Amino acid sequence: MRFALAGNQNCGKTALFNALTGMRCHVGNFPGVTVEQKIGEIRGKTDCSVVDLPGIYSLRPYTQEEIVTRDYILNEKPDCIINITDATNIERNLYLTMQLLELDVPIVLALNMMDEVRANGGTVDVEKMSRELGIPVVPISALKGEGVSELIDRAIETAKSHTLPIRADFCDRNSPCHRCIHAVMHLVQDHAEAEGLPLRFCASKLIESDNDIADRLRLDANERELIEHCLVQLEAESGLDRNAALADMRYSFIESVVGASVVRCRESREHRRSVAIDRILTGKYTAIPVFLGVMLLIFWLTFNVIGAALQRLLQFGIDKLSDVVDAALTSFGLNPVVHSLIIDGIFNGVGSVLSFLPIIVTLFFFLSILEDTGYMARVAFVMDKPLRRLGLSGRSFVPMLIGFGCSVPAVMATRTVSSDRDRKMTMMLVPFMSCSAKIPIYSVFVAAFFPGRGALVMFALYVTGIVLGILMALILGHTSFRGKPVPFVMELPNYRFPSPRSVGLLLWEKARDFLERAFSVIFVATVIIWFLQSFDYRLNPVTDSSQSLLAIVGQWIAVLFKPLGFGDWRFSTALISGFIAKEQVVSTLAVLAGCDTGVLHTALPAMFPSTLAAVSFLVFTLLYTPCVATVAALRREFNSRLSTLGIVFTQCGVAWVAACLVYQIGRLFL
Ligand code: GDP
Ligand code: MG
Repeated sequence: MRFALAGNQNCGKTALFNALTGMRCHVGNFPGVTVEQKIGEIRGKTDCSVVDLPGIYSLRPYTQEEIVTRDYILNEKPDCIINITDATNIERNLYLTMQLLELDVPIVLALNMMDEVRANGGTVDVEKMSRELGIPVVPISALKGEGVSELIDRAIETAKSHTLPIRADFCDRNSPCHRCIHAVMHLVQDHAEAEGLPLRFCASKLIESDNDIADRLRLDANERELIEHCLVQLEAESGLDRNAALADMRYSFIESVVGASVVRCRESREHRRSVAIDRILTGKYTAIPVFLGVMLLIFWLTFNVIGAALQRLLQFGIDKLSDVVDAALTSFGLNPVVHSLIIDGIFNGVGSVLSFLPIIVTLFFFLSILEDTGYMARVAFVMDKPLRRLGLSGRSFVPMLIGFGCSVPAVMATRTVSSDRDRKMTMMLVPFMSCSAKIPIYSVFVAAFFPGRGALVMFALYVTGIVLGILMALILGHTSFRGKPVPFVMELPNYRFPSPRSVGLLLWEKARDFLERAFSVIFVATVIIWFLQSFDYRLNPVTDSSQSLLAIVGQWIAVLFKPLGFGDWRFSTALISGFIAKEQVVSTLAVLAGCDTGVLHTALPAMFPSTLAAVSFLVFTLLYTPCVATVAALRREFNSRLSTLGIVFTQCGVAWVAACLVYQIGRLFL
């Protein structure tokens, strides 16, 4: 049996999904965290699976999330829909329920967040609500696991007996809406049966001028005209436009249900607290300074205090281990080539990348706290106005913020951006947000050239990326992406205390991702680089790495980087390997410098002709092509090879010009 979780954004679908399956998907206090459907087996039940769908407010296919959810329900026909609702905001949540009821699929309503309702003195008469709606209603708290097993038992029962909602007709008899819906139902009945679509649902959607459904039903011009007549009649009789008339009908029914079964809670403490906090955090003059302050503080703590200390500790451990292994291999008298592979290749390469794990985990620790408390949603709201000047909307902000972590999920997160134009533009800007895989590169360079000023240099690099992203947005907005971003509507969730479990899970996820990369892609790449660097083209071991295979390739490309101040083949080689994974730049440099990564920062100043050249290298790394994984994600989302190639070349071009300007202008002054 298959169950589908459907509900508004941020109402706890993923929390419930995790409670049912024991899986650990990302729960966030932010609308639009889940963009893909996820399937899991329900614990303790045989042959029962549940699908976590993206959150939606209506079944009209306007956003990617609505399309994913609607197509799943219509095409895959789950055995039962578990409609999860936020009981603290029941009216708005029931609006979707009204539409789900029309689908002719068994439904169970889960009233989530009952813990909060109770804490604020509210109650729900579950029996009454169930009778009014004609479907089973189960109060739960997904986060605390209360009522979850009752819910699933009810859902299985409903699915087994295939109990359909008792009623789908909610309008007053003799109302204009009622007449119109029934007239349209009559008109399209045969088509709906032929296509296997629920009739009442089709009628509602046709009234909402949903062309997708009209096409699916294969209505001809005549039939469409007849429907249009009904709609004109509806508008004339009700004095409302067609969408408003339908919404009005649904809300009057919801009002009567809620009036009969819900005892209003007093205005919740959480809500009042949120309003008070918002006065500062989203205040007209305070919002942006607070945001910048918060980000600066996070960077400082990550790069100068906590992350850096942990990193030193781990690096120390890796170095010690590498020494021990080195000594053991020497005394064992292992073949020198294999010895070199293990110590110079693997320990240096993978070890160097591994030692950055603490910094990445620390950064994500803070970011996930921001998200879980609900601050991130505010940031999107606050940033809407400035982003609008650039031709984007507040919705674009979060994918870009995720881009600071990793561009791959960032590109996927653009699915929450409503219009195609805004979405494509956002994806093109994501690569300007410096991803966390570049942190190892920055850290080593800071240690080598700017010791003690880490946070400042990092901040400057990130800001450079953002500023160039802004310039890019302006250029795009005046050329290929003319037009206006769609209006920004997002519900601000109440501030919540971050749940240690969900923060912990997110950290574990990031750490695991990173470790997987370190031991797969980066491991292989390191071995390849080591091989190319240790042998010449006759496959004899080289003593001087400038004779190696790698040097030959690197030298060809190095010419391009002469004007940027770093014409050495080792840098061009490192940059090429960075295309596989950005962390690779550091390990390649370490392998090529023939030193331990722990001491790479002492070797670097000798490799660069000047500090300015190093800065130019950093700027280039900040901006050049996104890594293979991101390119693949872009290709999938754009669905066009040409656009993807365009992005790669644009990024490289922008990087080259920016680094060149930095170097050439810098030379005039220094
Ligand atoms: P989704 O967007 O529908 O998948 O919602 P999530 O599962 O990501 O949850 C949204 C927010 O609601 C998170 O901050 C959860 O911690 C919180 N939440 C979910 N279920 C409950 C609940 O039963 N009680 C309370 N108090 N909070 C909950
Ligand atoms: Mg979710």
